[in-house]
Amino acid sequence: MNDWKDRELGMDRGITRRDFLNGVALAVGAAILPSDLSAATVIPPGAEKSPDYYPPALTGLRGSHPGSFDAAHSLRDGTFWDRAGSPSSTGEKYDLVVVGGGISGLAAAHFFRRAAGPKARVLVLDNHDDFGGHAKRNEFHSSQRAMLGFGGTFSIESPAPYSAVAKGLIEELGIDVPSYPKYLNRDLYRSFGLGPKIFFDKETFGADVLATNPLPRMGGESENDLARAHALDVFLKEAPLSEPAKADYARLLTDKKDYLPGLSSDEKKARLARMSYNSFLADLVKVSPELVKLFQATPQPLFGVGFDAVAAQDAWGLGAPGFAGMKLDPEPGKGMNRDAIPNEEAGKYFFHFPDGNASIARLLVRQLIPEAIPGQSAIDVVLARTDYAKLDEPGSGVRIRLNSTAVRVKHQGDPASARNVEVAYARGGKVYTVRASHCILACWHVVIPYLCEQLPDRQKQALSSAAKVPLLYTNVALRNWKAFQKLGTNAVYCPGGYHSYLNLDLPVSIGGYECSRQPEDPIVVHMMKTPCKPGRPAREQHLLGRVELFSTTFETMERNIREQLVRVVGRGGLDPATDITAITVNRWPHGYAYEYNSLWDKFWLEGGETPCEVARRPFGRIAIANADAAAYAYTDAAIDQAWRAVGEVIKG
Ligand SMILES: Cc1cc2nc3c(=O)[nH]c(=O)nc-3n(C[C@H](O)[C@H](O)[C@H](O)COP(=O)(O)OP(=O)(O)OC[C@H]3O[C@@H](n4cnc5c(N)ncnc54)[C@H](O)[C@@H]3O)c2cc1C
Repeated sequence: MNDWKDRELGMDRGITRRDFLNGVALAVGAAILPSDLSAATVIPPGAEKSPDYYPPALTGLRGSHPGSFDAAHSLRDGTFWDRAGSPSSTGEKYDLVVVGGGISGLAAAHFFRRAAGPKARVLVLDNHDDFGGHAKRNEFHSSQRAMLGFGGTFSIESPAPYSAVAKGLIEELGIDVPSYPKYLNRDLYRSFGLGPKIFFDKETFGADVLATNPLPRMGGESENDLARAHALDVFLKEAPLSEPAKADYARLLTDKKDYLPGLSSDEKKARLARMSYNSFLADLVKVSPELVKLFQATPQPLFGVGFDAVAAQDAWGLGAPGFAGMKLDPEPGKGMNRDAIPNEEAGKYFFHFPDGNASIARLLVRQLIPEAIPGQSAIDVVLARTDYAKLDEPGSGVRIRLNSTAVRVKHQGDPASARNVEVAYARGGKVYTVRASHCILACWHVVIPYLCEQLPDRQKQALSSAAKVPLLYTNVALRNWKAFQKLGTNAVYCPGGYHSYLNLDLPVSIGGYECSRQPEDPIVVHMMKTPCKPGRPAREQHLLGRVELFSTTFETMERNIREQLVRVVGRGGLDPATDITAITVNRWPHGYAYEYNSLWDKFWLEGGETPCEVARRPFGRIAIANADAAAYAYTDAAIDQAWRAVGEVIKG
């Protein structure tokens, strides 16, 4: 791309403080020091005490931001201890040290204090500059208005009903899930004539075209048949597909053919569990390859891969087309991914805060350290400003120490009889130790074998197998959404795009926060990408995607974002150079917990102990939490696993 085009895209507008943020520290006062920890970005002592320290308002590269992972990667590469120098003891002693300040770690601190009493002393360590883990808050402040966005966890939702424990915590925090409809302006976008569209790009489909999406969610929404038939007619007129592909599309949606005749429902499911949905479409339904390309990216928001790597049985569970005549018993088939099993009760349990489940993390922090987040209710937390200076105060029963990567967790003595665990952590280019009666590892499981050398090999292997699913959650602040209004869309599926989905913010007004109500008003557009590599086994796709996310500069991402937006809604009048006021890319190379499925995990289909059951076994005074411990990428798993881990340390 030449300079002229860059200028047209607005790459020269310093709105994101790109020069500073691209690969450099985000925290106020941060500096690169000649450190023993290679080029790790280090934070000077006391940075979090500055009144200007406010990570939610930082833009640019967030999520796993520069400086958050250097120590852990150096540990993985075996270079950490050579360079680190000897640790210094802080002299601190806790009842519990929690590694990982995501919802699992914060919930563990909360459950532990409830069980051990308010005098219990707890330290939470996290490598990021903010707490919440994947439940991350993004703020945008402009002269027009302040806006919130979710940098990770979108909402309270789960494919299966919340457990009594998880529901109990949500209620204890004051979140009234059934009251959600009163905060959502459900008809806002529809009242302006906006609906779901598909962006066909010229590289994949021969022409840049924005067409009506007749299957906004696989299987259609609760629209009536007439509306769906109309949407199909419009789609077939607008889509830049060949005539045979259009005929196949109509056939796929309307035919009631059994593509596996002569087999029982169970036999069919067993076959579907072992073939990808792409194979089902291409080999059994025999649709045009154009349609395979069209559907390919659809399941990315759930699985982080496309339909090349998702079982046809799971696609059936998700309501993908092609199964209407298959006479499949509605009971879930063996080996179905839990995400693909419909559940009516779970479907109703939904709540979205404007910053997603960062509000849950903030409510937990308010319980643990009331001085850090003012307010009384689950509603007023939305606009409450966290005082980061209060998170790690010497006199406090609970301390949350950010920018601190645990690098070693070991019993002082024989794990079977030791009375203490020593936790070493890297912070600001130095290594410190604290002691604790117990430790809960609520961090990513792949890190644990490097922290805890004493663990049995089989457990280490199981922990290492939990490599997460990489994702980008991008938030773009726009001056207005007039271009979207003009083109009649609020949600675009982009099967060949850099991001595969882009959506205007869900219109929720709550606790004094007002959503954008008029097309002339500023808004946040949320864009989602999974950097998968179709055609390879799922885990390999995740590994390559993770490498891609770590090695792509913010500048490249920004250019891709601006170009994608102008191609999708430029015809509606969006000028990327003037209409984009901020960009925050939440980079999650270690994103969703890996979920087992029938295509890639034999044990899931055939039964037996799962790796997460081996991985989460307690070890002496150390217990293991995190959503990885359930191989389930949802908030309720993070809470349930915290509860179990606390039970283990209290008993032990
Ligand atoms: C982009 C995205 C969107 C999601 N959307 C939803 C959703 O809408 N609804 C839903 O229910 N779930 C969603 N999930 C899943 C949900 O966010 C997680 O299940 C849950 O938040 C995980 O919490 P956790 O505490 O187990 O892990 P995390 O949130 O990952 O927290 C673990 C923390 O430990 C830290 N850590 C790792 N190693 C170390 C170390 N050595 N020292 C110190 N700290 C360390 C990590 O950096 C991290 O901050 C989403 C996940 C992602 C990635």
